[in-house]
Amino acid sequence: MSEKHGSTPTVLITRRGADRLRAGHVWVYRSDVVEAAGIPPGSMVRVQEVGARGRAPHPLGLALYSTASEIAIRMISTKPVRDLEQLVRERIRAAITYRERFVQNTNAYRVVFSEGDSLPGLIVDRYNDILSFQVLTQAMDSEEMRSAFLSDLQSALNPVAIVERVDPRVRRLEQLPEKESGPISSVQNSSLERNPEQDSLDPGRGRSALPQTKTEFEMNGVRFLFDALGGQKTGAFLDQRENYAAAANYVRGEALDVFCYQGGFALHLGQSCEKVTGVDSSRPALETAEQNAALNGREIEWIEANAFDLLRDYSDAGKKYDCIVLDPPAFAKSRRDLPTALRGYKELNLRALKMLRAGGILVTCSCSYHVGASDLVEVLTLAGQDSHRILRVLENRGQAKDHPSVLGIPETAYLKCIIVHVS
Ligand code: SAH
Repeated sequence: MSEKHGSTPTVLITRRGADRLRAGHVWVYRSDVVEAAGIPPGSMVRVQEVGARGRAPHPLGLALYSTASEIAIRMISTKPVRDLEQLVRERIRAAITYRERFVQNTNAYRVVFSEGDSLPGLIVDRYNDILSFQVLTQAMDSEEMRSAFLSDLQSALNPVAIVERVDPRVRRLEQLPEKESGPISSVQNSSLERNPEQDSLDPGRGRSALPQTKTEFEMNGVRFLFDALGGQKTGAFLDQRENYAAAANYVRGEALDVFCYQGGFALHLGQSCEKVTGVDSSRPALETAEQNAALNGREIEWIEANAFDLLRDYSDAGKKYDCIVLDPPAFAKSRRDLPTALRGYKELNLRALKMLRAGGILVTCSCSYHVGASDLVEVLTLAGQDSHRILRVLENRGQAKDHPSVLGIPETAYLKCIIVHVS
């Protein structure tokens, strides 16, 4: 193998680590690294399995190395790599082509989903004319890598701005220097040559010296505001986009969207329901939700409350709905949290089932990777038994296709969304 950057260091891993790679995974944990002394942070490395006595080490391919993370190795290729930045550019193009084929009815979607797109450590989201990205590893944080993916994203998608969203916790864990979220300045210069058609969307734009960090995007015919420097995650929950449309297919009457954030489900349910209420504990999220409702000319009732308290009060008071959506935050951040998380899901689902009219629809979600699809089904089954309801599964869904889940890498599949008919 010959590489542009001179000699590539070698990392030796255990048989257990190698077996994991042979089964299609791309991670090797530090506990399976046998020898990696002196390798600089974020290097591309050759990965080899330690040889059994008397046998030569067995080569497994090339990876990106982290000196800090428990995930020491993320595979990048099983074939020789002549130029890593060139490979990254090719993978970005492939990710964009994938979206052109499979993403519909939206100008907001995930462009790059880390391991899901064979670009471990990089997340890129598009919100109409703004790109938002997040770097999760030492390798993706290098100057060379940044300039490779940023210049390619700029020329392929021609955004008016590219904004970096920093997760300080991730940077600390990867031992990367602290950094503020904000627009990337060098890309703004090149954005001066952007498509004049895009400028007509906002005649004020271009006259301002400040980089644009706000825009409006659309999915399934619903409009949303986007603020690249506000909100949670990278702005909106794009992974639910196809589930919003699916849920909207089945509903009518009165709907309750619990954990509504900026109104993703609520606004979609508003297309076919007479009355929609959204509940969240975050006031800023509800303020944006209210603006989103106005943008779509809809009246939605927004309630700032703890969902557990509100569901208890409403079910005790005998309130009834025709549709309830439950989309809580990840209750299980690690496997250890699983029992507590399952109790949380059970309580929410039980309360919701008690409040649904006969023929009602429950849309229940979990975004915790550690809560498996079968765990959620089990919780729902138990909640159905306790509430003496019969649940018929209309759809058993996952994350939107712009968040590709790769077989062999179970961590790439994390979102569950089950839609049931309740009688
Ligand atoms: N359904 C939303 C995403 C929900 S994310 C969408 O499709 O866009 C989870 C939301 O739960 C966040 O908005 C967070 O503010 C809210 N949240 C977290 N804990 C809560 C609690 N105890 N009660 C109410 N809302 C809560």
